[in-house]
Amino acid sequence: MPTLVMKFGGTSVADPERIRRAARRVAEAKADGHQVAVVVSAMGHTTDELIGLAGKVAREPARRELDALMSTGEAVSAALTAMALEDQGLPARSLNAFQCDMRTDGGHGRARLEGVDADGLHRMLEQGVIPVVTGFQGIAASGDITTLGRGGSDTTAVAIAAALAVQRDGGCCEIYTDVDGVHTADPRLVPDAPKLGAITYDEMLELAAMGAGVMHARAVVFGQRHGVPIHVRHSQRPEPGTMIQRETPHMESIAVIGCALKTDLGRVHLQGACRAWCSAPSPAEA
Ligand code: ADP
Ligand code: ASP
Ligand code: MG
Repeated sequence: MPTLVMKFGGTSVADPERIRRAARRVAEAKADGHQVAVVVSAMGHTTDELIGLAGKVAREPARRELDALMSTGEAVSAALTAMALEDQGLPARSLNAFQCDMRTDGGHGRARLEGVDADGLHRMLEQGVIPVVTGFQGIAASGDITTLGRGGSDTTAVAIAAALAVQRDGGCCEIYTDVDGVHTADPRLVPDAPKLGAITYDEMLELAAMGAGVMHARAVVFGQRHGVPIHVRHSQRPEPGTMIQRETPHMESIAVIGCALKTDLGRVHLQGACRAWCSAPSPAEA
């Protein structure tokens, strides 16, 4: 029975109706004979709202507390999604980072995942229970809650897929989002940019690192390291999206696969500064 990790992003669980729709999608995958684990992001713009709230009580909120606050968004959507699944007659249980031992380093706001309790997840799947895991959050060795950086639920999903070794039984990690796959450019900025049927990990990593927010870059790294195929697809449409995998048919023939836009970059041009600096006496000589 192929195992799927189905990850629903913020827009796909933005309100109760969409959560029910996501649950129906999971029910369809189960009816098709898949074993399913679910990962969810916070509902809609919840994370932004929580950050805004923190800014109203403190000028510089402590990063530890910011993580404790932000992680609550995913707790809400995981519990609601588990309820919606149970309502469809599918046994499900929400799990936070403590409950599935999602260990990270201590880097608040940008923590790196170090491990996850695969045995616990396997046990639940064997009992026919759908684990619904909170994306984005982790636990540091200190016991503190951490978060993986904005968009980090993708990384949670791929890490869980790797821990479950979904590729061994023909499964994959499905990233459900508000576009129908990875396009050659952000379809919101370039509406006629074509959708790619498949893209390699290296190509996707480069696009993600350059600003293509459709995938969290670290999720792609995880996928590549563990050989987890990633399927990016629309949460409201049935057709296949984009497969992120080791090899694609176009690998040799296309030089430019896509373009991405980064708006938060500045450029500093120093003219003649090097010469002045190099010829300045060192403190020891002065
Ligand atoms: P989610 O909340 O589901 O995680 P994100 O906002 O993180 O969704 O990612 C989906 C968004 O990524 C799309 O709405 C789209 O605007 C943006 N995006 C940027 N570059 C691309 C690209 N090359 N292909 C598809 N979507 C892209
Ligand atoms: N909720 C977090 C964010 O908005 C994580 C995610 O959506 O992947 O960045
Ligand atoms: Mg995302």
